[in-house]
Amino acid sequence: MHEINNGRIFMGQVPHDADLLDWFTEFVRKKNIQLGEITLVGAVKKATMAYYHQDSKQYEQIVLDRHLEILHGVGNISMKDGKPFVHLHVVFSDDKGQTFGGHLVSGSTIFACEAIVREFIGAQLDRKMEKTTGLTLWSTD
Ligand code: ZN
Repeated sequence: MHEINNGRIFMGQVPHDADLLDWFTEFVRKKNIQLGEITLVGAVKKATMAYYHQDSKQYEQIVLDRHLEILHGVGNISMKDGKPFVHLHVVFSDDKGQTFGGHLVSGSTIFACEAIVREFIGAQLDRKMEKTTGLTLWSTD
């Protein structure tokens, strides 16, 4: 674990019709936020997420082509291949209050989204392929 400090904080609305993951990736690269966290609430016109199968080490894509609330989105910002990288997990809900969630991938269209992006300073975390899980993770030292 790294001891880190607060940097800049951004709070506001994400544009209608933007791609939920791609917008945050572009934002953190534009602002050069190399370490941080993201929280968000809102709604989407369509959700695309993924589930990671631990045995086969493959992501399976889940597409919900319907209107959904974003109950909770949470994620982190770190470095991957020399560029800021966003890792977000989102819980969506439908008109019955049923929830769906997963690892966010490109392909979710924003209806409305309110977000807070917090920058952290004092450390750099780089994602590298980790054999045991098959995932690109931070080093544990
Ligand atoms: Zn994930």
